[in-house]
Amino acid sequence: MNLDQFRRQVREWLSANLELKAGLPKPTDAEDRVLQAKIADGGYAGLPYPVEYGGRGLTPGHQEVFYEEAAPYRLPTGLGVSLGMIAPTLLDCASPGVLAEHLPKIFRGEEKWIQLLSEPGAGSDLAGSLTRADRDGDRWIINGSKVWSTDAAVADYGFCLARTDFDRPKHRGLSVFAMPLQAPGVSIQVIAKSDGCDTEFYQEYFSDVALPADALIGALNDGWSVAQRLLFHERNFSGGVGYSVGLRAKTKESVSVDDLIAAVCLRGTPLTEREEDLLAQAYSNAVVHNQLSKRVSSGYTTGTLSGPWGSLLKLSSGLKEHRRAEIAVELCGSAAITWDDGSENGPIGSSWLNAMVMSVAGGSNEMQRNTVGEKLLGLPREPVVDRDVSFRESLRRRAPAGEGS
Ligand SMILES: Cc1cc2nc3c(=O)[nH]c(=O)nc-3n(C[C@H](O)[C@H](O)[C@H](O)COP(=O)(O)OP(=O)(O)OC[C@H]3O[C@@H](n4cnc5c(N)ncnc54)[C@H](O)[C@@H]3O)c2cc1C
Repeated sequence: MNLDQFRRQVREWLSANLELKAGLPKPTDAEDRVLQAKIADGGYAGLPYPVEYGGRGLTPGHQEVFYEEAAPYRLPTGLGVSLGMIAPTLLDCASPGVLAEHLPKIFRGEEKWIQLLSEPGAGSDLAGSLTRADRDGDRWIINGSKVWSTDAAVADYGFCLARTDFDRPKHRGLSVFAMPLQAPGVSIQVIAKSDGCDTEFYQEYFSDVALPADALIGALNDGWSVAQRLLFHERNFSGGVGYSVGLRAKTKESVSVDDLIAAVCLRGTPLTEREEDLLAQAYSNAVVHNQLSKRVSSGYTTGTLSGPWGSLLKLSSGLKEHRRAEIAVELCGSAAITWDDGSENGPIGSSWLNAMVMSVAGGSNEMQRNTVGEKLLGLPREPVVDRDVSFRESLRRRAPAGEGS
């Protein structure tokens, strides 16, 4: 179906089936799931995915059209990781059995997935993961801990990276598992954020969690490649391209350039030259980012650009969001940082407190710069001293004298 016909269909369906979001609160997790089921019933979930796994077999362009038209409507806001990162990664790496079991439930909002990658001692250096999976007959037994897991308390499954072989080099002894978060032996603790939110970040502890053999996603000891696919799709999600097109822009709230203009205009006094400069900077950063996003998106579609370009896009998001939050605070002054519920500048202060999110989540700006330098500019690789030694040996070398074994 061509995009114009599709747009007309989408418009009709949206006006008959979804509420306009203006004035309504952000949906809860339970409401997200109901909304997503409605979208799936209408035939608008999993648009670019194969029909045999619950998708529609259309293109990312159809998904873009759907979310463009759906922007004024109340949509799920907490399913981006499942829909935009986990679903395409499963499609790339999982067996047909895993795809048939999980993808249709993800598209209907029946299964919410999160990422279980970072650990207290392994963030940028993800290959240093210590969470372990040991084979016991026809089960895997998981022990360890993950941290900074967004939405763990309301999720069904985690995409869990664990070490399956300590005698291989660190990148080659990892595997990925579908971890049910309600399984016996999983305990989840909340981490409070600086903006007062205590329903977003969690740390999980796994104590002899038993998983069936078919919980393995991808090949045994090939978890590094599987995790790389997830990070690739996460960068695309941040940049709103590929399978994520439309998802992030419409589900993540941040302070827009229009919000900034509204905030200074509300004051009712003329803009100073400095304020005009700041608004122009925020505006031009947004335009440059949008153009970059379009370029990377079309490069992916035509095959002229490869995966590492997502790092440039992710870096651009991190820099742009941080700068925009700084600009917002400078423009709004004390009104941006002191607010009561209902005050018009509340989101600006909150956005400043969250300004580092895009510079850290899914790989820090520095890590994206490393990728851009090495993979796009052809600069020499960062030296790695333990790439070819067994992980057991690299742990021994890291341990303080007398503790290695
Ligand atoms: C909002 C948010 C949501 C998140 N959600 C999840 C989630 O759902 N699941 C999950 O698993 N994780 C999640 N994370 C964790 C995130 O992936 C990690 O915070 C990130 O990978 C950085 O790891 P770290 O915090 O351990 O920092 P570290 O790796 O300890 O890095 C500390 C500093 O050192 C720098 N650095 C490290 N290594 C290098 C290097 N080689 N070259 C140059 N600089 C370097 C980093 O850039 C950083 O500035 C989330 C984080 C945030 C902020």
